[in-house]
Amino acid sequence: MPGDAETQLRAWVDYYRDLGIHDFYRRGEPIEQAAEDVDTPPITVELTPAESFAVVEAEEVTPTAFDDSRFKPQVPIPAFNATASPEMPPAQKLVSFNSLAPFPAAKIPAAERAAALRAIQEDIGDCTRCPLAYAGRRKIVFGDGSSTARLMFVGEGPGADEDAQGVPFVGKAGQLLNNMISAMGLARSDVYIANIVKCRPPGNRVPEPVEANTCSQFLLRQIDIVQPEVIVALGATAAMYLLGVKQSLSSLRGRWHTCRGAKLAVTYHPAFLLRDPRQKAEAWKDLQMVMGELGLTPPARK
Ligand code: URA
Repeated sequence: MPGDAETQLRAWVDYYRDLGIHDFYRRGEPIEQAAEDVDTPPITVELTPAESFAVVEAEEVTPTAFDDSRFKPQVPIPAFNATASPEMPPAQKLVSFNSLAPFPAAKIPAAERAAALRAIQEDIGDCTRCPLAYAGRRKIVFGDGSSTARLMFVGEGPGADEDAQGVPFVGKAGQLLNNMISAMGLARSDVYIANIVKCRPPGNRVPEPVEANTCSQFLLRQIDIVQPEVIVALGATAAMYLLGVKQSLSSLRGRWHTCRGAKLAVTYHPAFLLRDPRQKAEAWKDLQMVMGELGLTPPARK
């Protein structure tokens, strides 16, 4: 069993990661800047307390004991069966989803999108393309929601609840995401929800580049089929892989980016908001920016 110091250190690392501060123990790493992000003016949004979903009760998250054995492969990792595909970037490279593959020549008709998504799921099959297949995964978490959604949320990767049920965002963070969606005047079934990786990273660690890059070909196809008008990247990991830039969350929030023809906004991951509920007001500003773009108004209070 880990000592208190180890548990506390792990909580701090998680905290900094949610703030978008990666590798804070390294110095002098160059930060890449996406071409489309340069000179985009910041957007400020007025927040009224009545509009804030900050009424959502903060839930106590008890850190689970750190079990070191979960980070070690349970079985020897066989060679990957990944086949070379034009969408697959080199394992360690950070590439924007805009550059991964040509944009689709035509939109898939709305009536054909659900079947097109099912075809991707069949293609994924019982995937063994990356190490996450051998790291205790139970279910592949493909995605959830409307195949014709105007709004898509992208998280980092499944946690324990999602791994057990095969559905994204069904645990505590998922409950908060549901509340965020209702605060926008939408139902969960109106939106589409997916993750950067479809299998649970052991111990809920951040997906490795080889895992995210191997899985990105499927998320890219999901985005191209659903063709949402707006994508919300939940947290720094989703933002980093969708945009292909490694920047702090604060520098990415409050302005529009682009992803596969959609406008993309960056906000805090719901798991971070559970740990620091004071940031819900900031997240609400991000969601208001999205609502403005989609012409949504918050539901009237009862
Ligand atoms: N966190 C994520 O990033 N995705 C999920 O599906 C659940 C928790």
